[in-house]
Amino acid sequence: MQRLGLYVQVPFCQTKCTYCNFHTGVVSTDRFAPYIAAVCHEITHHAYLFSSFGISLPKRFDWQSLRQAVPAPQPADTVYIGGGTPSLLDPQLLMDLLRTLRSSFACTNEEITLEADPETIEPEKGRQWLDAGINRISFGSQSFIDEELKAAGRMHRRADIYNAVPILREAGIANISFDLIAGLPKQTRASWRQSLAEAIALSPEHISIYMMEIDEGSRLGLEVIRSGLRYSARELPSEEAMAEFYETAQAEMRAAGYEQYEISNWAKPGFESKHNLKYWRREPYLGFGAGAHSFFGQQRWSNLTDAAAYVAAINSGRSAIDHVDAVTSDLALEEEIFLGLRQLSGIDLRRIERQYGVDLNEKIGRLASHGMIERVGDLIRLAPAKLSVSTEVLVELLR
Ligand code: SF4
Repeated sequence: MQRLGLYVQVPFCQTKCTYCNFHTGVVSTDRFAPYIAAVCHEITHHAYLFSSFGISLPKRFDWQSLRQAVPAPQPADTVYIGGGTPSLLDPQLLMDLLRTLRSSFACTNEEITLEADPETIEPEKGRQWLDAGINRISFGSQSFIDEELKAAGRMHRRADIYNAVPILREAGIANISFDLIAGLPKQTRASWRQSLAEAIALSPEHISIYMMEIDEGSRLGLEVIRSGLRYSARELPSEEAMAEFYETAQAEMRAAGYEQYEISNWAKPGFESKHNLKYWRREPYLGFGAGAHSFFGQQRWSNLTDAAAYVAAINSGRSAIDHVDAVTSDLALEEEIFLGLRQLSGIDLRRIERQYGVDLNEKIGRLASHGMIERVGDLIRLAPAKLSVSTEVLVELLR
């Protein structure tokens, strides 16, 4: 049986970044404890709450507890507490959360990640996180240029990053992942190189680079659409510059010993994100909290995104699931290709053809002749120079 990934969403932040299109809010800290209590209730009663939506997890018989004849908890090897800014929470709430997960699932604690923003990190918190079992920090550095951080509405500045990293190391966190954003307003080729160089010099085990997304879900995106001036939309780098930023990152990371294993992710050997790999490998995961997504068997489902509505549903004994989608065979094939090509290790063509009863040879040959993909035996993967065009490849493959 595959081991689960467990995800907990904490949808609270201190401010709203201009580019943010997530369902997060700035709320009074009084709402943190009731929210975590609701999440703990959802975790404890997940089997019942899921079943009310027709979702049932397979029962495992616990041979150790034979006399009690109870189903055993599902094994889980990764936990990811994301947001939002979960590092805002009192460490005691995080401890409650992890204790509840451990009493509801057979957790092996291989990788327990907490997303943390630089300005929220304090020595005492770092020690308590480690005591709680958190062994990986996903660190929201984003940029090392104050002008860019300010324009993006971030709370932290470059100095906060340099303050926080030694605190985490001294607390004993041996696995830190930095996030950087390519395409922030005011970012230039030179400033992007500087952010990359400073991130690499701090020697995190893992670096994620996200390309700025512009859509109507953020204040910055709306400003681009409406040609406004408030959030520096006119100082966004061009698409050509962003493509160049990405290529620069690939070269600099490679030179620094980081291996790219996914379109947006680089790691030192052995430090790939075990939890995030589950998403790209279509392995099962369960999400708890407002807006959390889950995938198990032939179903994907997600919770209500509004935190207050989520808490109200759970507190009244109802499931907070908003909708459930069946993953048909066609959809599963799309996912295999789309998610598989995100990974630098690529996809096993023969396995997919066997599993889904399709012949992808003609498409693959055409794409290969255009230099879009590389083929090594039965493995296909995106050509290194084409990593930023994965959606086009998907469309081409499935047409
Ligand atoms: S910290 Fe992250 S989740 Fe919160 S507003 Fe900024 S981008 Fe959005």
